[in-house]
Amino acid sequence: MDLCIIGSGYVGLVSGACFAEVGHTVICVDNDLRKIDMLHRGQIPIYEPGLEELVLRNVAAGRLRFTHSIEDGVDNSQIVFIAVPTPPQADGSVDLTYIERVAREIAGVLKPGQYRVVVDKSTVPVKTGEKVDATIRRYNPTAEFDVVSNPEFLREGCAVPDLMKPDRIVVGSASQRATDLMKRMYEPFQVPILVTDVSSAELIKHAANSFLSLKISYINAVSAICEASGADVEMVADGIGMDRRIGRNFLNAGLGYGGSCFPKDVKAFIAISEELGVPFRLLQEVERINAGQLDVFIKKIKDALWVLRDKRIAVWGLTFKPDTDDVRNSVAIELVNRLVAEGAQVTAYDPKGMEKAVEYKLLPASLKLAHSPLEAAEGAEALLLATEWKEFARQDFAAVKAAMHTPLLFDGRNLLNPKTMRDMGFTYHGVGRP
Ligand code: NAD
Repeated sequence: MDLCIIGSGYVGLVSGACFAEVGHTVICVDNDLRKIDMLHRGQIPIYEPGLEELVLRNVAAGRLRFTHSIEDGVDNSQIVFIAVPTPPQADGSVDLTYIERVAREIAGVLKPGQYRVVVDKSTVPVKTGEKVDATIRRYNPTAEFDVVSNPEFLREGCAVPDLMKPDRIVVGSASQRATDLMKRMYEPFQVPILVTDVSSAELIKHAANSFLSLKISYINAVSAICEASGADVEMVADGIGMDRRIGRNFLNAGLGYGGSCFPKDVKAFIAISEELGVPFRLLQEVERINAGQLDVFIKKIKDALWVLRDKRIAVWGLTFKPDTDDVRNSVAIELVNRLVAEGAQVTAYDPKGMEKAVEYKLLPASLKLAHSPLEAAEGAEALLLATEWKEFARQDFAAVKAAMHTPLLFDGRNLLNPKTMRDMGFTYHGVGRP
C-alpha cells in the first residue's frame, strides 16, 4: 500500500522504515529541512539500534523516501499517519498545536474525490480524533476522509523490534472502510489487532503509559521500605515478578522514570481526568514518588561527601535510558545539573547521548565531558551511575578504582553487583538494597 507519515522523528521514521520493510511504499514527511537533507544524504538523525540498515535498505529498494512537502505525501498515499510532537504545557495538559497545524495542512492539500485515512499515531488526549476530524472538515468541507486513532507503543532503544513485532496493534475507528484499510496495512505484521472506537484507542495509550509509570513508582516506594528494613528490593521484585499476573518488567528500582513519554503522559492523563471532572489522584502520588527518587539519591551522596562544593564527581550516563541517544527529560541530566548547582565539579560520560545533550544545551557550562567511562572516573571522589548502559557493567573496575581519588560508588540503577563491588574495595550504595 502507499503510505505517508507526517513527522519523521523517533516514531515517524521508525514506523516508516518498518512499514517499508514489510513491503509498503512509504513517504516520510518532515518540516525540519535539516532532517530531510540528512535523510537524503543517507544520514539518520536519531540513534536507534538497527534503524540505519533498515532505512538504507528500503531507500535502496525504492520503498522509502523523504520530503518536506505534505502535499507530496498526501497526494501519493492511501493512509496518512500523523506522528508529530505532543509536548506538555506548563499546567501539564497537552500542547496540541502541532496536531492542529498538521490537520489544517492536510485539509489544504486534500483534493476532491481523493479518499484518505488520516491516522493519529501521536499520543493525544481522548477526543482529539473528533477535533482533527472537525478541523479538516472546517478547512475543506468537501474532503473525503476518515480519522483513525492508532497509538504507538514502541520503546526507544528497541523501537525497531517493537514496531516489527508489537504485542498488539490498536485501531480506533468509526468507519468500516478505514478499518478495512488499516487491517490490510497491518496484515503483514501477523500480530493481534484490537479494533475499537476512536476514544477508547486514544485512552488506551495514556492508560498504558500511566500504568507502567505506576509500576515503576510502586517498586520505588517498596525500595524505600527495603532500605528502612534491610531487605533487598531486587529480590522482592524478582519474587513479585515471577507471579505471571504481575510480571518482572518495569519493576526496577532506581532514579525513577524520565524521557519524553512517561512524565508527559502521566501529567496529561491527570489533566485529562481533571478536565473530565474525575480526578485521577493515584497518578499524583505516582509523580510524587518519582520526583522523590532523585532527592533521596542526592541525600545519600551528601551523607557520604557532606558538602558537594568543589567535589570531583563522575557521572556515567546522560540518556534517559540505555540504547538511545534521547536526552529529553532525562533524570541523569537533572542529576548533573543539581550537582553542579551545588558547586560540584562534574565529569560525565555517555555512549550515545553527549552530542544531543550539548546540541540541546541541557548541560551546565562547567560540566566536563569525558571520552570514556574510565576518563570520567579519573580523580573522582564519587562515581554515580545514572543510566544502565550495559557497557558500564563491563568496565575494568580495578582500573576504575585505581583512577578514582576515593572508591565511592552510587549505583542509581542497581546495575552492578554489590558484593562484587565491595569485594573489589568500593563503598557501594544502590537503591533499596543492602
Ligand atoms: P520527535 O520530536 O522525535 O519527532 C516529531 C517530528 O515531527 C519532528 O521531526 C518534527 O520536525 C516533526 N514535525 C513537527 N511538526 C511538523 C509538521 N507540521 N509537519 C511535518 N513534520 C513536523 O517526536 P516522537 O518522539 O517521534 O513523538 C511523536 C509522537 O509520538 C508524540 O505524541 C509522542 O508522545 C508519541 N510517542 C513517542 C514515543 C517515543 O518513544 N518517542 C513512543 C510512543 C509514542
